[in-house]
Amino acid sequence: MLRSPLSFISSCLVAASLGGCDSLVPGPALSKPAGALELGERVPRLSEQDAIGQVLVRVSRGMPDYRGLLRNPSAEIVFKDEEATGADRMMTPRLERRLYALNRLVRREWDGVSVRVTEAWDENGEHGPASAHYEGRAVDLTTSDIDPTKLGRLAFLAVVAGFDWVYFEDRTHVHASVRR
Ligand SMILES: [Zn+2]
Repeated sequence: MLRSPLSFISSCLVAASLGGCDSLVPGPALSKPAGALELGERVPRLSEQDAIGQVLVRVSRGMPDYRGLLRNPSAEIVFKDEEATGADRMMTPRLERRLYALNRLVRREWDGVSVRVTEAWDENGEHGPASAHYEGRAVDLTTSDIDPTKLGRLAFLAVVAGFDWVYFEDRTHVHASVRR
């Protein structure tokens, strides 16, 4: 599925208007005609902390910071919710806006497919130290059909959707996060 340079430029312009695409000069990842990230690739090519700012707290339900999270009510986006606590729906408003933008792009890209969230806010300490998941600023993503061949393209669409840092982390998911 080759995409014309023109369609890349227009998607980058859209991303720029949403606050994505750090600059309008296409980096190596984004200039690829197929518009997909490689396994292990991150956009922008910075540490996550440099891209989204330091993670300061491990938010728990009793903390004032918890009130800064909202519960995503979407019936279109699939939430894995393996904890059965609804934690995967908890996120910052900025993350929610990017997630909705990504879901729109995914539904346009693949018929009958939407975004699937396997992790968002983590209250169980299941991620590394100072993970953006603890502040509800990160999501782990697949497509709703759990097709690993779509992940590279999904990661590219996450960049277009304006996530501040996107990482094609492994063959099972894409990690995407936002500034505070
Ligand atoms: Zn993650």
